[in-house]
Amino acid sequence: MQIETAGPTEFETGGVLTIDLTAIVKNWKAMAQRVVPADCAAVVKADAYGCGLDKVTAALAKAGCATFFVAHITEARQVRAVAPDAIIYVLNGIPPGTAPTFAEINARPVIGSLAEFVEWDAFRTATSWRGGAALHFDTGMNRLGFSLEEAPLFTARVKMPDHGISLVMSHLACADTPSHPLNAKQIAAFRDLRFMFRGTPTSLANSSGVFLGPATHCDLVRPGAALFGVNPTPATTNLMQPVVNLKARIVQVRDVPRGQTVGYGATWTATRAARIAVVSVGYGDGYPRAASEAKANLKPGARPSKSDAVALIAGRRCPMVGRISMDLMAFDVTGLPEDLARRGAEATLIGDGITVDEVARWSGTIGYEVLTGLGRRYRRVWRR
Ligand SMILES: *Cc1c(COP(=O)(O)O)cnc(C)c1O
Repeated sequence: MQIETAGPTEFETGGVLTIDLTAIVKNWKAMAQRVVPADCAAVVKADAYGCGLDKVTAALAKAGCATFFVAHITEARQVRAVAPDAIIYVLNGIPPGTAPTFAEINARPVIGSLAEFVEWDAFRTATSWRGGAALHFDTGMNRLGFSLEEAPLFTARVKMPDHGISLVMSHLACADTPSHPLNAKQIAAFRDLRFMFRGTPTSLANSSGVFLGPATHCDLVRPGAALFGVNPTPATTNLMQPVVNLKARIVQVRDVPRGQTVGYGATWTATRAARIAVVSVGYGDGYPRAASEAKANLKPGARPSKSDAVALIAGRRCPMVGRISMDLMAFDVTGLPEDLARRGAEATLIGDGITVDEVARWSGTIGYEVLTGLGRRYRRVWRR
């Protein structure tokens, strides 16, 4: 096993974040196999969903991933530094005046408006740069992209030599809800586009989109979240391997007498004598504070239900008590043997059975936000 690390040492900070690069590669390969004969890209925006853009990109490029999507030019630069041969698309398009930067990095903008197209085309005409671009069409999300009515502006262009349009793409708004009627509408609209742009490669599916079936696979799929272990099929079993493990250290274990409260706002009361483990991670580390807001006042020593926020201490799911502070949070260890829940021992916040999606559910958010919120304070470890 290979290990790379970054950040402070374990005892100089509050938590250790371990990223399993082998699991990311497995998840990418599973996606790639599922969509054959289509190709599988990787979306590595937002520091590869908090998992480390350079390490993730290097691992995926080595595994055979040829195309990467990022949101910003600076992220494209990071991809280029570790993947010299990769095709790189920048989803947020061309900010004003940046066409030369795309040439310098050899990255392709995802173009979604005429103003962007004109900048890209003018630069291409004025220079010897022959780099490509994607055309993004809006099929129902109303976020970025040309309208379907604008498609005929480009259909003659893609019949010319050296037209530079390397991809026609759109994005699904409701792919994680297979029964949503917008899926069928977007798939039908994109089929019309594919017909108009016959001969040009096309791309529609994100992670969840892949599972809507072959109609969404087209020539290239663009999974992000699923590569990092987020469940792309929320209604059923997660077919992806977990990637992230987050451990905090127990700073102190203390007795809380019956009738006393724990934490800011005194939101949790010990309904009998309790033992509480205070651990060294809080919302200042990106652990969502909302996870502590909507909790029942469990009796000390009670078994948590699926909807209670927990940490794994000595292999046991211990319920969170009281509000999450900036740098600390507390878990009920009443009834756990004293030698297991003690100063310096580990509390697992994500991993070993606690999924990113669970943390998200406790916090009223999605796995994407939990991952991209993972803080900068942790010791980081990449395993492969
Ligand atoms: C972020 C993004 C993706 C990846 O989506 P996931 O749901 O994370 O797989 C794909 N396409 C576009 C346009 C995106 O913005």
